[in-house]
Amino acid sequence: MECDKCGRDAVMHAAYSGAHLCDKHLRASVEKRVRRRVREDDLLSADASPEDPQTWVIGLSGGKDSVVLTQILHDTFGRDPRVELVALSIHEGIEGYRDESLDACETLTEELDLRHEVVSYAEEFGVRMDDVVEKDPENMAACAYCGVFRRDLLEEYAEALDADKLLTGHNLDDEAQTALMNFFEGDLKQIAKHFDASLGPFDRRTDSVHFVPRAKPLRDIPEKEVALYAHLADLPAHITECPHASEAYRGEIQDLLLKMEENHPGTRHSIMAGYEELAELAAQRYRGGDGSRDLGECERCGSSTSGRICRKCRLVESIEAV
Ligand code: SF4
Repeated sequence: MECDKCGRDAVMHAAYSGAHLCDKHLRASVEKRVRRRVREDDLLSADASPEDPQTWVIGLSGGKDSVVLTQILHDTFGRDPRVELVALSIHEGIEGYRDESLDACETLTEELDLRHEVVSYAEEFGVRMDDVVEKDPENMAACAYCGVFRRDLLEEYAEALDADKLLTGHNLDDEAQTALMNFFEGDLKQIAKHFDASLGPFDRRTDSVHFVPRAKPLRDIPEKEVALYAHLADLPAHITECPHASEAYRGEIQDLLLKMEENHPGTRHSIMAGYEELAELAAQRYRGGDGSRDLGECERCGSSTSGRICRKCRLVESIEAV
C-alpha cells in the first residue's frame, strides 16, 4: 500500500478514516490531532504570558503513551515562554518493573532538558505495591489500590507544583474501554466523573474547582498509532507489562472493542462522542443542576473528599492493619 499523501510505502492503514500513511505522515497526523485537542480543550489560557507562564504537569510513567505525550508537548511548547512543562513520575514499588520505566523517564527528560520530579508510594504512604498485593486486605485487584494511590499523588503534587493543568497520556482505546466498563456496570456516578476528568465547562468554573484541571491530549489517538509513533520516533518507551496488571474485566472489554472496531471501524470514536454528552448529563443529575460537587477535606490528609476520610487514607489504614 502507498501513502495517500506522498506515495511512499505506507506503515499504517486506519480503517476508521480510510487513510494509508507512511511513517512521516503518520507522525504528522498524530501530532496534528494532539495539537487540535490541545486547542479545542483550551489548554493554554488566554492570559498566559512570558511574564506569567502556565505550568503544565505531565504524568510520565515511561510507557509509550506518556512518553509520546511528553515528546509532542515538548516539540510544540518547549520554546513557548508562556508554558512551563514539568514531568511527574510515580514509583509504585514494583520490583523489576518501575525502576526500568523510570530509566526511560530519565533518558527522555534529560534529552528534552525537562524538569522531572519522582515521588513514591513508599515515601508518601509507607506502602509498596508488591506488599499491597501480598496483603490484599480488601480482596481487590492490584490496580484498584494502585489507581487510588496514583490519582492521589498526581493531584497532590500537581497542586504542590502550582500546576495550571495536569496532563495524562490516556489514549482513545483507554478512554473507550473505561466508558464501556462504566456503562456495562451501570455506574452513572462514575460516568459523571468523566466530566471532571475532561476539561468540561464545569472545570472552568472557579467556584466548583477542587482539583487541578486535568486533560488527556492523546484521547483522540488509537493505541496502535501511539505505539507506532513511539517506535518510528525511536522514543525511549518502556514496554514491559506490569507483573500485577490484573484487570481481567478491562481485558475482556478490550477484546470486545477490538473486534467491534474491526467489524465496524470508528466504533471507539462514536462511543466517546456519545459518552462525553452522557457524562455531562450524568454530572448534572448527580451533582445538582450545575454539575458541581460538595467536597470537604479528609480528616487525615486534608485532600478533597465527599466523605469524612478519603479513599486513599481508608486503603492505607486497612493495609496497615494486616
Ligand atoms: Fe499499578 Fe495496575 Fe498499573 Fe501495575 S498495571 S502499575 S498495579 S495500575
